[in-house]
Amino acid sequence: MTEIRLWNTATKRKDPLPAPPHRVGMYVCGPTVYDRAHLGNARPAIVFDVLARLLRHVYGAENVTYVRNITDVDDKINAEAQRRKAAGAPGTLEELIAERAEETIRWYHDDMAALGVLPPDHEPRATGYIAQMIAMIEGLIARGHAYEAEGHVLFRVSSYTEYGALSGRSVDDMIAGARVEVAPYKEDPMDFVLWKPSDADLPGWDSPWGRGRPGWHIECSAMAQELLGDSFDIHGGGIDLQFPHHENEIAQSRCMGHPFAKIWMHNEMLQVEGKKMSKSLGNFFTVRDLLEQGVPGEVIRFVMLSTHYRKPMDWTRRKAHDANVAIGKMAGALGKLGEEALCNLAGGEPFASVVDALSDDLNTHLAIAALFAEERPKGGGAKAMQEWLSAVYASQLLLGFDLRSHALAIAAARQHDGILSIVQHAEHPELMYLAARLTELRADAKVSKDFSLVDGLKQALNEAGVSIQMSKTEVRLEPGPDFDPAKLEALK
Ligand code: AMP
Ligand code: ZN
Repeated sequence: MTEIRLWNTATKRKDPLPAPPHRVGMYVCGPTVYDRAHLGNARPAIVFDVLARLLRHVYGAENVTYVRNITDVDDKINAEAQRRKAAGAPGTLEELIAERAEETIRWYHDDMAALGVLPPDHEPRATGYIAQMIAMIEGLIARGHAYEAEGHVLFRVSSYTEYGALSGRSVDDMIAGARVEVAPYKEDPMDFVLWKPSDADLPGWDSPWGRGRPGWHIECSAMAQELLGDSFDIHGGGIDLQFPHHENEIAQSRCMGHPFAKIWMHNEMLQVEGKKMSKSLGNFFTVRDLLEQGVPGEVIRFVMLSTHYRKPMDWTRRKAHDANVAIGKMAGALGKLGEEALCNLAGGEPFASVVDALSDDLNTHLAIAALFAEERPKGGGAKAMQEWLSAVYASQLLLGFDLRSHALAIAAARQHDGILSIVQHAEHPELMYLAARLTELRADAKVSKDFSLVDGLKQALNEAGVSIQMSKTEVRLEPGPDFDPAKLEALK
């Protein structure tokens, strides 16, 4: 069995996970739900989704606990609700805050599903764990690691001598370069907030320090401890969270006597024109923007997985185009099977070459190359071919691509009378699926004599600027001069 080795930011080397049997715990910092996920936010979701799939494959799904939280108490959510209230939205501020959080969580779930990201085993919301946070803060005060000042509770950074070890920074560097908030009630500018007071109209909970709300860092320490215990294998998130967020999580949990996470993993940033994509820089676009432009979710996923997670990556149109072609090939490989065989694909083992690549610090780029390099069996007849294709399918699934519905459309079209070729357009392989659908509908219509569905699809394709040529033996869809791929999205 392959050993999984992961680059650990804390030790600066690839550290092994224990061999199975073993119960694996993984915590990943999830979204703060105040707005649509931008494309950068999708990177950790996709990267750690592949890792969760690998862990389930190696240890068995029942031995893996993957936790990805939702930060649903945050000043950015409050600010968005205050903006809506000022603009005349009905309801109390509290209602508007809850509404905004719920709406954003729904969007996040829809967007992640479109990218093939499976739900984690637990998705704790910070507001469901306030009691655990209060208990942890009380513990830190009792141990001398925190103090109350003017309704706030602050973590006393000087009380934890290893502070800064994860990011390798000295306290002086951190003060010089950081967004350290100076406040009169702090003993030291480095001290960070564990609890802060809430006005009457802001979300708040009763606590020994008055009505208030937690700081962001304590949320993750408390939820990870509650769901994964005092010590667990992996903690993940974007590299932008290494300092101060993860440094603070470590300080809080270790000062409570918990060993906390063993391996710290950080994905690098998604960039636009060489700069981190972020809301504060205003250079972002959302996952939804891309989906609405007609870029399929699996194409976005493929682009993300084509770069190793520890390297910065740029989103480019060219990469989306290449990914589209590759996805077409992946579906095409499965489409060689008939409909019935496709339905029986599940349950195969992925190729060892793909598992090995992923086990070496999640080398997704190498795993994709390994999958494409696997050659179809030369002998052995239909059985060998079916086995090989089920390994292809299992490997695709391990990477999070379920292309069976695409492949089914292709297979169905191939089986229908007389159609020998569906011409694949290199730049728009999505047209191939539509060509397959058109062929299938035409074959059905020949039997039923009802051509309304065929005509409907042809009209929609015309409206999207697609030129259609259909003969007895060939269906050819080509983008015309007015081609608008966004209009194809509704046809999928
Ligand atoms: P946030 O909602 O900003 O707290 O971020 C949610 C997750 O997305 C965290 O793990 C961040 O580190 C990650 N993230 C934010 N911006 C980017 C980016 N440009 N590239 C990659 N990951 C990011
Ligand atoms: Zn966190």
